[in-house]
Amino acid sequence: MLAGIEAGGTKMVCAVAEHPAHIRERIEIPTTSPEETFAHIQDFFADQKNIRSIGIAAFGPVDTDRRSKTYGDVLNTPKPGWSGASWVRAMAAYTTPFAIESDVSGACLAEYIYGAGRHQKTLAYVTVGTGIGAGIVHEGRVRTGTGHYEMGHIPVRRDPYDKYGGHCPFHADCLEGLASGPAIDARWGGPLSEMGEGEIALEAGYLSQLALTLILTHMPGRIIFGGGVMKTPGLIDAIREQTADRLAGYVTRGDLSGDLSEYIVPPALGDDAGISGALLLAQQAARDATDR
Ligand code: ZN
Repeated sequence: MLAGIEAGGTKMVCAVAEHPAHIRERIEIPTTSPEETFAHIQDFFADQKNIRSIGIAAFGPVDTDRRSKTYGDVLNTPKPGWSGASWVRAMAAYTTPFAIESDVSGACLAEYIYGAGRHQKTLAYVTVGTGIGAGIVHEGRVRTGTGHYEMGHIPVRRDPYDKYGGHCPFHADCLEGLASGPAIDARWGGPLSEMGEGEIALEAGYLSQLALTLILTHMPGRIIFGGGVMKTPGLIDAIREQTADRLAGYVTRGDLSGDLSEYIVPPALGDDAGISGALLLAQQAARDATDR
């Protein structure tokens, strides 16, 4: 049995499955304190038999470097009580193979295998919600360095008419500071879906800079844009248009010419992307252990 945890900031989804595409049992638990949340998770898995491996797609930042002493720890997060919480210790009752990646990397893996990223060599997945994150999957594997990527915090060129200071506690006006859901609320007093074309164009201006950066640094076959803010009608079209403008004809690959409607796409999997990604990580952990 594969064990998967989609660890979100508001809820945890736990599941067991014989195969990532066929979930046998799942539960949802509200994310409260680490002690209480971990206890609920442990109760669920204690009732399951034959757990072969564990995969976790976790809200970040989280230490995903296996060589690190703090592997599996939640790092410096504003979420009360969670900084230093250890997923490795939480699952210490199991000696089975274990894998942890960021939630957006997990979702990217699920889209790569089952969704909008099938048949690609490299896939990028961007989520725009409370925060902004991006994951890369290359040839079926999540790409990381000594940690998961933090592309939501790239600096962006500011729109000269945008007087909002930005809300990132570390960088103020990084991409997340200017374009995440809380930034939109703080600047305009409501969600982007209640705003007009000008506001959508400004938001797309920032997000298209991440799309451009992803293209220039990773050359993905496709970029998926998901998350709550992306449900705004017209936003994805505006991102395609501004990304094409910013490319300015420099990259001449066929899929990057034209209107980018096949290149910048919404997610194909619904709400199951996160837990499917966690189960795929568990499957990879089990296979890696067999290969060693
Ligand atoms: Zn930042």
